[in-house]
Amino acid sequence: MASFKYAGFLQHNDSTAFDALLAPGTIAHNSGIYRCGACGDEIAANKNNPLPPQNHHQHAPGVGPIRWQLIVFAVQRN
Ligand SMILES: [Zn+2]
Repeated sequence: MASFKYAGFLQHNDSTAFDALLAPGTIAHNSGIYRCGACGDEIAANKNNPLPPQNHHQHAPGVGPIRWQLIVFAVQRN
């Protein structure tokens, strides 16, 4: 699970960007931390770059496919 120390550096946000379950290789529309909804693996991704591919990590049979979900995005200033 993603962790932080200082709550003042994060703020709650109801953006629908957090609701999408993205297939491997999908272009990330936000820089930030993404979590695999099936196994909980977490990665950092950069805006406009593809999320990790299908072979990034393996799931045991029955766990389901890799689906990346945005959990924290970075706010970039210009
Ligand atoms: Zn996974």
